Amino acid sequence: MAGGVNSPVRAFKAVGGEPVFMARGRGAALTDVAGKRYIDLCLSWGALLFGHADPGTVRAIQAQAAKGTSFGTATPMETTLARDIQKAFPLMERIRFTSSGTEAVMSAIRLARGATGRKRILKFEGGYHGHADSLLVKAGSGLATFGSPDSAGIPRELAALTAVLPYNDEQKLGRFFKKNKDLACVLVEPVAANMGVVPAKKNFLSALRFWSKRTGALLIFDEVITGFRLCHGGAQHLAGVHPDITILGKIIGGGLPVGAFGGSVSLMRHLSPEGSVYQAGTLSGNPLSMAAGHSVLSRLDPTFYEKLNRHTERFTDKLQTLLRLKKKKASVTRAGSMFTVFYRETPPNNFSDVQRSDLGAFRKVFRALLKNGIYTPPSAFEASFLSSSHKDAELRKVLEVFEKC
Ligand code: PMP
Repeated sequence: MAGGVNSPVRAFKAVGGEPVFMARGRGAALTDVAGKRYIDLCLSWGALLFGHADPGTVRAIQAQAAKGTSFGTATPMETTLARDIQKAFPLMERIRFTSSGTEAVMSAIRLARGATGRKRILKFEGGYHGHADSLLVKAGSGLATFGSPDSAGIPRELAALTAVLPYNDEQKLGRFFKKNKDLACVLVEPVAANMGVVPAKKNFLSALRFWSKRTGALLIFDEVITGFRLCHGGAQHLAGVHPDITILGKIIGGGLPVGAFGGSVSLMRHLSPEGSVYQAGTLSGNPLSMAAGHSVLSRLDPTFYEKLNRHTERFTDKLQTLLRLKKKKASVTRAGSMFTVFYRETPPNNFSDVQRSDLGAFRKVFRALLKNGIYTPPSAFEASFLSSSHKDAELRKVLEVFEKC
């Protein structure tokens, strides 16, 4: 395996040592190949809302597998999951499924360029939207972790079409849009999670909506992490800001490979076969992912989120209090059931704040947590997650270990 892993964020390059090889997962816990158990706060990077090997999801996958795993044709299951999604994201009047979040974002950008006839796009520092060429510019997640927010192998001419601004800065945004009225789209994580959890200011998202509409750029909300994580309608529902295109992934596949993008009927008509923007996939909307996703989405309602989010809030409050009592320079940010401990005195607002964190402290705590059976993302610039399987007993243990560490 190149670098020992199939995705760089799984490596331990930023924290030292060798990555742990996991053999099994159940509920809130992972077990490695040596039989050591960990309480998992990474949860497949947010894809698992009910925890590992959730019995309902497993049953749905088994039942579908017995009927066939991939047909390469249209199936009713795709429509079923699309309807589940529409109940929560009514702006996704038409949906297309892909096999990953990256593919969904890549396709959404092509759609925006095809529909507007424009080339340039805007993203924000520390925003990660998958590994498509145009998006690995000042990106968060693994790129931030390894200190190279731009990737080699991307032609300068292509990267030049991606403008980048700081997150949460309406003033710079306004100044930029007054001069740049030729953008195809603006891409944003409406709650940033790939530089750690950094919620967007309400004014920032409204300003984005205002300026994009005014200049004819399409507003794309990348809700690959936030969709079905924060609440039933995602960050757009909470902020009351309406994007032109929404991108989903992770939770809608119940832990199987998936991505989706969607928007109004008139916009999505630009996609092949109706329109001239080409987009395709052998395994897109594959029956196993659709069945797993439906099993998860059909069990979600506002009560589920109220409970999980309240549970997470109680936990992060205790964690913040603990850090304060111990006089540690650390602040805990949270949105719904995701959170980050930043080793800095105040919660960050943007990527440059995030980068002014004590990475040495992060590394030390990561290693101590791991030794004591708590698995967190091996990077200071990522979100941690809770699931409905994380009960009081597990969270008490996390707090105890944290205190000790
Ligand atoms: N967008 C966001 C906001 C993400 O967090 C991610 C992955 N973490 C992606 C896109 C890419 O998704 P995938 O890894 O499924 O390609």
